[in-house]
Amino acid sequence: MQKKHQRGAFFPVSLGCPKNLNDLEVISGGLLAAGWSIADAPENADLYLINTCAFIPAARNEAVEEIERGVAWKKEAPNRKLAVSGCLTAYDRDGSFHKKFPQVDCWLGIDDIGRVDAVLQGGKASSSCKFLADDSLPRLQLTVPHLAYLKIADGCNNCCTYCAIPLLRGKLRSLPMQCVVAEAKQRVASGVRELVVVAQDISAYGMDRPESGENLPKLLGELNRIDGDFVIRLLYTHPAHYTDELIDAINANSKVLPYLDIPLQHISDGLLRAMNRHVSQTAVEELIAKLRKMIPNLVLRSTFITGFPGETEAQFEELADFCRRVKFERLGVFPFSAEPGTIAAKLPGQVPTEVAEARSTLLMKRQIARMRRMQKARVGSRERILVDAVGNGIAWGRGVADAPEIDNLVLVENPPRSCRAGEFLDVEIIGTQNCDVIARAVSKKRK
Ligand code: SF4
Repeated sequence: MQKKHQRGAFFPVSLGCPKNLNDLEVISGGLLAAGWSIADAPENADLYLINTCAFIPAARNEAVEEIERGVAWKKEAPNRKLAVSGCLTAYDRDGSFHKKFPQVDCWLGIDDIGRVDAVLQGGKASSSCKFLADDSLPRLQLTVPHLAYLKIADGCNNCCTYCAIPLLRGKLRSLPMQCVVAEAKQRVASGVRELVVVAQDISAYGMDRPESGENLPKLLGELNRIDGDFVIRLLYTHPAHYTDELIDAINANSKVLPYLDIPLQHISDGLLRAMNRHVSQTAVEELIAKLRKMIPNLVLRSTFITGFPGETEAQFEELADFCRRVKFERLGVFPFSAEPGTIAAKLPGQVPTEVAEARSTLLMKRQIARMRRMQKARVGSRERILVDAVGNGIAWGRGVADAPEIDNLVLVENPPRSCRAGEFLDVEIIGTQNCDVIARAVSKKRK
């Protein structure tokens, strides 16, 4: 049985996106600082803490299942506490989840991320969302030691009509650059080799503080100046926020991977307007062409929504044709979900769910076929990968084209005996396995 500190032991569960995991790192760091210890399994815990996501129905269902697990765990022994944090608390404006789960001892608001112990000790939970964790707060890294998500902002001002995030996370608020750089330095000094920059829209960084003159291009320059052998990956950019300065910064800073995640959501002008995406089809097409021309070996990831209210078969075909022409290296497609409180949920011309789902399935089926061809085209190429794990004569890693958890893997057969997780390895791609690639090490690992 694990030794308990004076507060007890907590078991953290992270649901949803990397931004949520980053929040749970701050929550966990705060609890450790307050005298809690972390349990390696629920049976060794006094507190079961679930950091939830509420973005779409599937995420809420997952949160409900996890809370039900927590409720069952709580019944198994006396004096156990169950706490819920994250987006579900913010989503639950009508209190239906609170009523459904009276066994939950503590519902933590977005602004409680840095004061969880205080709320657990009886403090009043918050209902606002203005909080942003800076580098002064203790945090417990919950990712593998060589990978970290660097959350540079929270909230969003873009107000896409289908999206509930501004309702859940509040207005855009971005961290001062010195805080982001200080945290990045701590992470790199502790062994991080891949910094994944995240926010709801990282390309809006600093737009809430125009007087500061801080923006993403400048931030990339500062991060690139940090000593160490590491790479920087960018997730969640917005097509309306690309500038020549940003493209130059991506090219000029050698640690920044030529990997761009640009959720476009659709391509048809009528739907882009109805989604309030602040871009036109022409602007998107010109941006993609410019990025392909300006950034060598660019890996483009995007996300699309099918079945947005009013989407016609012709508009869907327009989107399918766009994907065929652009050949995104990485893609996610989701059927529209009418989120309570959003403008799109009330729009006329709601598309039947089965039609929306059939369209997303078809787009992904074509994408997987394209991706398999693209992976085959990597055979014979040499790449530098970051090794995530080694075992049973295989090393699992990721190259430039492979973001953690959402993309594919590089499987290295018979890696060098000295190969370790968290190190870079030069490999030659020698084959494919579904959408993953097979490789062999080609030279001594680099420190
Ligand atoms: S940019 Fe992203 S987070 Fe912001 S409103 Fe649009 S979809 Fe939501």
